[in-house]
Amino acid sequence: MSAAPTISGTVYLVGAGPGSPDLLTLRAARLVMAARLIVHDGLVDPAILAMASPKARLVSVAKRRSRHSVPQDAIEALLVREALAGHDVVRLKGGDPFVFGRGGEELDACRAAGVPVEVVPGVSAALGAAAAAQLPLTHRDHASVVSFVAGQCKGLGEQNWAGLSGVGRTLVIYMGVASAEAIADKLIADGLSPATPVAVIENAARPEMRVLHAPLAGLGALVAGRKIVSPAVIVVGEVAERGNEPALKAFAEAAA
Ligand code: SAH
Repeated sequence: MSAAPTISGTVYLVGAGPGSPDLLTLRAARLVMAARLIVHDGLVDPAILAMASPKARLVSVAKRRSRHSVPQDAIEALLVREALAGHDVVRLKGGDPFVFGRGGEELDACRAAGVPVEVVPGVSAALGAAAAAQLPLTHRDHASVVSFVAGQCKGLGEQNWAGLSGVGRTLVIYMGVASAEAIADKLIADGLSPATPVAVIENAARPEMRVLHAPLAGLGALVAGRKIVSPAVIVVGEVAERGNEPALKAFAEAAA
């Protein structure tokens, strides 16, 4: 008699939002609290991990520029291996799993292995940052288009951002801190005014949040001068002026 086949567990690709646990969806919170195995990346706030059962196994696959990280294919292999062994896996990712989160790659790997997947959306950094800084990404008077781009150094020159920023448009740059100066140069070379308002929101939706403002030409100096570090999003466009007009004026006066 052959052994009954093991029933595969499900992989839940879950968005953990930008930080604060109360920005989790109810569905995400329920899954975190019920999980026996959580595979999480470095952006997930410890307060969210603290919601897990003491019986849960927590596996960190944190990615950090320059530090050791678990390669993406090893993460995918881990998810598939655990699911095929019959375990449900909560794969917890910062923000939303399908916005610069490599959730699509993990979905493909699970599908290829015949592992069932469920996707739970999360508040992506752009939305969490906009809310926390009280800076609307669209506004009838200022912007009717909003775009999200990845600003990592790699391939910045080859990325075509033409038309994504300018009058009536909001551009939100993820992963842009390390290349902030090159990003400003690129946008100015694409025809954007050096005076375009920019807001940088660091650690959005966390107690240590900072919201800093500069004109586009001053972005590199702002990031270096104020020692802005990841995670931060850069918002470019007229809407960036809102939320903290006094700070923008103070910067302009100091720069004058
Ligand atoms: N899936 C995530 C994005 C992952 S890429 C999401 O939907 O938000 C990582 C980038 O997200 C960081 O480099 C930063 O640009 C942004 N980010 C994530 N959390 C953030 C936070 N709390 N505040 C500001 N930016 C954040």
